[in-house]
Amino acid sequence: MKSIAILGSTGSIGCNALKIAAMFPERFSIKALAAKNNIELLARQMETFQPEVVSVFDGATAANLRRILPADCPSEILFGEDGYRAVAAHGSTDVVLSAMVGAAGLLPTLTAIQAGKEIALANKETLVMAGEIVMETARHKGVRILPVDSEHSAIFQCLAGQRRGDLLRIHLTASGGPFRDRPAHTFHTIKPADALKHPNWTMGQKITIDSATLMNKGLEVIEAKHLFNVPFQAIQVVIHPQSMIHSMVSFQDGAVIAQLGAPDMKGAIAYAFSHPERLPLGISTPDLAAVGALTFQHPDLAKFPCLRLAYEAGEAGGTLPAVLNAANEEAVSAFLAEQLTFDKIPLVIEAVMSAHGNMTSPTLTDILQADQWARQEARTLIRKGFQKPGMG
Ligand code: MG
Repeated sequence: MKSIAILGSTGSIGCNALKIAAMFPERFSIKALAAKNNIELLARQMETFQPEVVSVFDGATAANLRRILPADCPSEILFGEDGYRAVAAHGSTDVVLSAMVGAAGLLPTLTAIQAGKEIALANKETLVMAGEIVMETARHKGVRILPVDSEHSAIFQCLAGQRRGDLLRIHLTASGGPFRDRPAHTFHTIKPADALKHPNWTMGQKITIDSATLMNKGLEVIEAKHLFNVPFQAIQVVIHPQSMIHSMVSFQDGAVIAQLGAPDMKGAIAYAFSHPERLPLGISTPDLAAVGALTFQHPDLAKFPCLRLAYEAGEAGGTLPAVLNAANEEAVSAFLAEQLTFDKIPLVIEAVMSAHGNMTSPTLTDILQADQWARQEARTLIRKGFQKPGMG
């Protein structure tokens, strides 16, 4: 029996993880849950899984949660940063699924690593912001970090049984998002509702916008660098609109190994929970004859500058990846609030990156300060009605 804590239980990854736990009650037991403020869903999850401890975003949300729970609910209810840390380090868990949205996932995930918990990592921002510190802490604590991001799970599966010295390259596949074939000069007219229609995957709002700008792929490049300890030059992105191949690796003898499957996150989550065993998840294998053709193309970095910016931030290292991430989170939330047009998202990020005095070998405090600085800077630019530098 594996005991699991979920950071981000009401999000898309968290809900899929709970579906797996419900399918295999003899294998998985849910001991702790953390969510932001979706208390109706959290209360239903608590009723089904009876976790020992639960945490939400703040005290008011915790009070509202208590109000809708049955009076005899045995779960301990916590809130805030301390509550999230308590869930992450909860005594009776073996594995922590890190699936909060964005930068908020970093500190609870680090707490779980420091407590010696195995990590099933869906929150890529943890590695984008503080990859060196997170991986070093995991090594020091002897903690495994198993990828849940579908591309990184695919790479992990392709590398099973291979000699790492033979690895030549990682090929991260990307669907290209809903605007792959849309002319860039029309990007300023894109509405949030258009960008929230991902062609192949059903995901949360933030990651769906990141998929439309290709920032998600850029963050995944940085994530792959840290997870698999390969240089940026050895990580290539290839556009693959059918989303059938989840990623590939190539070796020095010219061989390429790809991992294929239906676009269902349960596959990657269950593999992180049960590796090296594979569970009967009821996901049907793709009918390749029905799919007909798998196609590939190079990403268009002029049309999707976010991918280029992520490579630049990753190569530079230091606090710049955290700045990239923070500016992106602010730009995406401004776009969703219709305060920023889609075409300006990369311009805001690039301007914030240019204004940043990068710091090499940063401490965690340096990284968190850079994150806060970049958010302020991005908000100021957005409030001023962002103009491209030199255009007025
Ligand atoms: Mg992914």
